[in-house]
Amino acid sequence: MTRSRILVVEDNSDNCDLVRFLLENAGYQVLVASTGSQGLSIAGREMPDLILMDLTLPVMDGWTAASHLKADPKTAQIPLLALTAHTLPGDRQKALEAGFNGYISKPINITKFNDAISYALLRKEKDAT
Ligand code: MN
Repeated sequence: MTRSRILVVEDNSDNCDLVRFLLENAGYQVLVASTGSQGLSIAGREMPDLILMDLTLPVMDGWTAASHLKADPKTAQIPLLALTAHTLPGDRQKALEAGFNGYISKPINITKFNDAISYALLRKEKDAT
């Protein structure tokens, strides 16, 4: 089985390091981007199995990048999770409307984080069969 590739779009380097550490520890291959537009171009080029994206990002924010990813048939099927401290009910709704398939709240709870990743990847495999 090939290792799943996960793209992390996060401008805060501490958060990015933590997420990368957790994912690599769990055996995933990690790609990183630090702005929404960089995230978009890497996603289109690398076609990762899953994208984790912060919402407050420079150049292009996460909501805008999400709408672009979901509007492009090439990247629309890639599961997309928001990585966010914005977890008020309205923020959650706004993220889902922008095209996110779910979200992971910051600060990160390691057990919940690992579960959310496995679940998103599993659902993707099921959809593909
Ligand atoms: Mn940010």
